Amino acid sequence: MTIETASQAAYLVAALLFILALAGLSRHESAKLGNTFGIAGMALALIATVALAIDDDLSGTGLALLLVATGIGATIGLYRAGKVEMTGMPELIALLHSFVGLAAVLVGWNGYLHVEADSDGAEAAALAGQDLLGIHSAEVFIGVFIGAVTFTGSIVAFLKLSARINSRPLTLPGKNLLNLGALAAFVLLTVWFVIDPQLWLLILVTAVALALGWHLVASIGGGDMPVVVSMLNSYSGWAAAASGFLLSNDLLIVTGALVGSSGAYLSYIMCKAMNRSFISVIAGGFGIEAGPSDDTDYGEHREIQADAVAKLLTSAQSVIITPGYGMAVAQAQYGVAELTRKLREKGVDVKFGIHPVAGRLPGHMNVLLAEAKVPYDVVLEMDEINDDFARTSVVLVIGANDTVNPSATEDPSSPIAGMPVLKVWEAAEVIIFKRSMASGYAGVQNPLFFRENSAMLFGDAKERVNDILRSF
Ligand code: NDP
Repeated sequence: MTIETASQAAYLVAALLFILALAGLSRHESAKLGNTFGIAGMALALIATVALAIDDDLSGTGLALLLVATGIGATIGLYRAGKVEMTGMPELIALLHSFVGLAAVLVGWNGYLHVEADSDGAEAAALAGQDLLGIHSAEVFIGVFIGAVTFTGSIVAFLKLSARINSRPLTLPGKNLLNLGALAAFVLLTVWFVIDPQLWLLILVTAVALALGWHLVASIGGGDMPVVVSMLNSYSGWAAAASGFLLSNDLLIVTGALVGSSGAYLSYIMCKAMNRSFISVIAGGFGIEAGPSDDTDYGEHREIQADAVAKLLTSAQSVIITPGYGMAVAQAQYGVAELTRKLREKGVDVKFGIHPVAGRLPGHMNVLLAEAKVPYDVVLEMDEINDDFARTSVVLVIGANDTVNPSATEDPSSPIAGMPVLKVWEAAEVIIFKRSMASGYAGVQNPLFFRENSAMLFGDAKERVNDILRSF
C-alpha cells in the first residue's frame, strides 16, 4: 500500500470519527466519549497529512518548517487550553475562529501566487488545458472572501466578548445597504476575476471582505452574541472547506462542511431559543433596532440574609435553582452541589432550570454542574421546567439576570422582548444571589428584583452559598 492510499484511508476514518464526535457531544452522558473521538480523529488527520507531505517530496527545510510550526502551535494551544477559565471560553473560541479565517485567506493568496500569478505559467496552462483555471480562480476568490469575513468578524467578537470594546450594536447610517453592497461587489468581482485574474481584484476583495466581517459583527448587540459565536463557527467551517478545495484535501472539505453545517444549525436552534430571526442575526442585525433606554421606577427592592434563606430552604417542599453567568464567575458550583445534596437529604425536592443561553456559551451551566457532580436527572432544560415554577416553594437565582427577566415576556419595547425566559417569578419565593443591582449582559434593567415575592441576597455567590451551608 502506498503512503497516498494509506493517508486517504486514514482521512476516511478521521472523517467518521469527527461525525461520531458530533453525535457524542449532543448528550451530557456521551460528551466525554465524543471528545475522545474528536481528538483521535484530529491526531489521525495530522499524522496522515504529515506523512503525505513527506511523501510529496518535502525537502529538509520544508519538513523542518512543518515540525517547528506544529511544535509552536501545539505549545501555545496547550498553554492557552490549560489556562483558560470556563467564562473565557467563548472569546478563546472566537480567537481560534479568526485563525481559521486567516489561514483560509493565506491559502487563497498562496493558490493565486502559485497558479494565476506564477511567472512561468506552467500550472495555469495545465489547468487551462482542462478548462479548470476558471474554477481555480473562483475557489481562490471565494476562499479569500469567506476567510477574511471570518477573520475580522471573529476579532470583533473576541473584543466584544472580552469587554475590550463596547458590546452595543454599531448602527452606521444605511448599514443594511453597506452589507448588501459589499455582497453585490463580491459577486461582480468574482465574475471579473474568473474572466481576468488580476492582482488588484484580489486585493480589493480582501479589503471589502475584511471590512464586511468587521461591520457584520460590530452591528450585532450583546444579547445576540451567543448566536454570533456559533455563526462564526459556521463561517470558519466554510472557510476551511474552501481551503480544502484549493489544497485538493478531501478531509478538509468534509470537516469544513461538518463544522459549517453544524454551526449553522446550532445558530438556528439558538435563534429559536431566543426568539430571534435567524436571517436578521446572520445579516448583521438586519431589521433589529436598539430599544429605548429604560428609566422606569420599579420601586424598592427587599434584602435578605443567608441565615434567613437557610430557614426558608429547610422548610420548603420544592426548590428550583436557576444558575447563570455569576455562578461561573464566583465558581459557586461546588457549594451549590453541596447545598443540593444537603437539601435532598432533608427530603426537599431540588431541581435545576437551565436556560439555553445562561452563562457565556451554550451548555456552560451543564458543564459546571457536571463538574461539581450534580446528578444529570435533576438538571432540566427551560422547556421541561418552565411550567413547574408556579408549584415551587423557593427559587434560587444564582448569578443569573437576563435569563430570568420578566420584561422579555411582559414589555414589548424591551431590547430582549420575545426571548423565552425562565418564569421564576411564578414561585412563592425568589431569592436572587448577586453582588449589586447592576444589570446583566444585555444591559437591561430587571423588574424581577423589585417584585413582592423577590428578595436580594447580596455578595459573592460562592461566599453566600457557603454562609447558607454553615447556617444549616
Ligand atoms: P447575565 O450576564 O444576564 O447576569 C449575570 C449576573 O451575575 C449579573 O447580574 C451579575 O450581577 C451576577 N454576578 C456576576 N458575578 C457574580 C458573583 N461573583 N457572585 C454573584 N453574582 C455575580 O447572565 P445570564 O446567565 O442570566 O444570561 C446570559 C447572558 O449572556 C444573556 O444576555 C445571553 O444572551 C448572554 N450571552 C450568552 C452566551 C451563551 O451562549 N450562553 C454567549 C454570550 C452572551 P452583579 O454584577 O450585580 O453581581
